Amino acid sequence: MITKFIKRILRRDPMVKHTQANNTGAPKRIPKKSHRIDPHLLSKNAVKVTHTLQQAGYEAFIVGGAVRDLALGISPKDFDVATNATPEQVQKLFRKARLIGRRFQIVHVTFFGKGHPEIIEVSTFRALLDNAGDHVAESGRILRDNVWGSQGEDAARRDFTINAMYYDPSSETVLDYHGGMADMEKKTLRMIGDPAKRYREDPVRMLRAIRFAAKTGFNLDDATRTPIAKLGKLLNDVPSARLFDEILKLLMSGYSWAAIQGLKDAGLHHGLLLPLLDHILDDSEASKGANSFVKLALANTDQRIQSGKSVSAGFLFATLLWPDLLKNWKGNIAKGAANIPALHDAMDDTIATQSSGMTIQRRFESDMREIWSMQSRFERRVGRYPYCLIESPRFRAGYDFMLLRCATGELNPAIGQWWTDFIEADTVGQDELMASVKNESGNSASPTKRRRRRKPKAALPPEGAAS
Ligand code: ATP
Ligand code: MG
Repeated sequence: MITKFIKRILRRDPMVKHTQANNTGAPKRIPKKSHRIDPHLLSKNAVKVTHTLQQAGYEAFIVGGAVRDLALGISPKDFDVATNATPEQVQKLFRKARLIGRRFQIVHVTFFGKGHPEIIEVSTFRALLDNAGDHVAESGRILRDNVWGSQGEDAARRDFTINAMYYDPSSETVLDYHGGMADMEKKTLRMIGDPAKRYREDPVRMLRAIRFAAKTGFNLDDATRTPIAKLGKLLNDVPSARLFDEILKLLMSGYSWAAIQGLKDAGLHHGLLLPLLDHILDDSEASKGANSFVKLALANTDQRIQSGKSVSAGFLFATLLWPDLLKNWKGNIAKGAANIPALHDAMDDTIATQSSGMTIQRRFESDMREIWSMQSRFERRVGRYPYCLIESPRFRAGYDFMLLRCATGELNPAIGQWWTDFIEADTVGQDELMASVKNESGNSASPTKRRRRRKPKAALPPEGAAS
C-alpha cells in the first residue's frame, strides 16, 4: 500500500524530462499555406497563454477540438493549450491560474474582459499508460491520468486523429501526428490506435464518437464504428456524473437530433443512458405526440446554440422528460388526485424513474421542477395569479416551455398568444386581457384542456376494513 502510494507520488513529481518511448514518430508539419486556419478566429487569450509559455522557454500549442474547428473554418467555443510545463510551472506564470482536477490535473487560466470571463485550459503533455499498474481498472478503464510525457505520447493518447493536432500561433504551423488533416479531407472520424482497446480504457469515447460525427457530419471509419455494438454495455460502468457531462455535451452540441439518431444507429440508447432516450427513439404510433414535442424542443435547442444563444440544461431536461411527466400527471388525475398534488407526485415519479439511468444533477432538477410546476399556472388566468407568475424569476423559461406546448398543439395556442400579449401590455392592457378571459370555461389548471368535475368520492371503507 505504502509503496504504491510512494510510487504514485514519484510519478506525479514535476518531470519535464519526458519518457523516451515515443512510438509515434515525427509529426507532419503543415505550414500556413497548406491549412485553412484563419488567425482571426483565434482567441487572443489563448495566443497570450502560448506566447507566455514559449517566452518562459516551454513548448506550447493550441490543441484538440479548437484546432479541429479552426481547420473546419468554425469558430471554436473554447480553447485548450498543451505544454511541456508542469501544472505548477504553468501556474507560476499567470496571475489568475488555478490547479484543478485529480484524475486529470490541469490549470485554468482566467481572463477577465468585456462580457464573460474566458478560461483557457492548459494541460501538460501526458504519457500513454500501457504499463500503468494501478492507473487502470480490471475492465481496462483508466482511473488516473497524471503521468507526464512527450508531445508524441500526448498525441497518441487523444481520441480521434482530428482531435490530435497541435497549432503554434507564432509560426502558424500545425503539427499532425496521426494524419488528422488527411482524415479531415476524407471527412472521416478515426480513433487513434486500436479502437476496441481505446473504448475499453474509456467507454465515454463511444459517445464522443457519435457526438463528433453529428457535429462535423463526418463518417465513422469502419474500424472505429464496429466495436461499439459489442462494447456499448461498458457505459454502465462509467460514473453517473461523467456520463451526465458527456450526454449534456451531446445534447448541447447544436446537433442534438442528429446525435440522438447516431446513438440509435449505434445501438447505444437502450436503457443505458437515460430511460428518456428510449421514449424519444420509440417510433411507435403511441409515442408520436411525445416525439413531436421532444423533436421540436431539440430542434429549437439546436437552433439557439447554432446562433450563439444560451440554453439552460434544466430547460432541456424538462422538455425531454415532459412526455413522461404528462403521462404520470394525467394518470394521477385519473386515479382521483387533485390537480396540483397530482402534478407534484408526477414530478417525483418522473425524476425517480429517470434516476435509474443517469442521475440528473440537483441544480438542474430544481430548475426542471420550477418550469414544470409553472405549467399548471399558465391556464389559471384569474385574480392575481398571472401578475404573480410573471414576476417569478424563472418565468421566461416557463413561458418558453409553454410556447413549445402550444406549438405542438398540446396546449391551446390562444393561451400562448394571450401570455405573449400580457407580457407586452401595459397595466391597462393587462387588465383588459384579464377581463377578456374572465368567463372562459377552459380557464383552469389541468393537463387536460378542460377539467372535468370529479364526482364526490363515495365513502370507501378504510383500508383493511373490508371483511
Ligand atoms: P468540444 O468542441 O466539444 O469542446 P473537444 O474536442 O475540444 O470538443 P474536449 O472534451 O474539450 O473536446 O477535449 C479536448 C481534447 O482532449 C479533445 O480534442 C481530445 O484531444 C482530448 N480528449 C478529451 N476527452 C478525451 C477522451 N475521453 N479520450 C481521449 N482524448 C480525449
Ligand atoms: Mg474543447
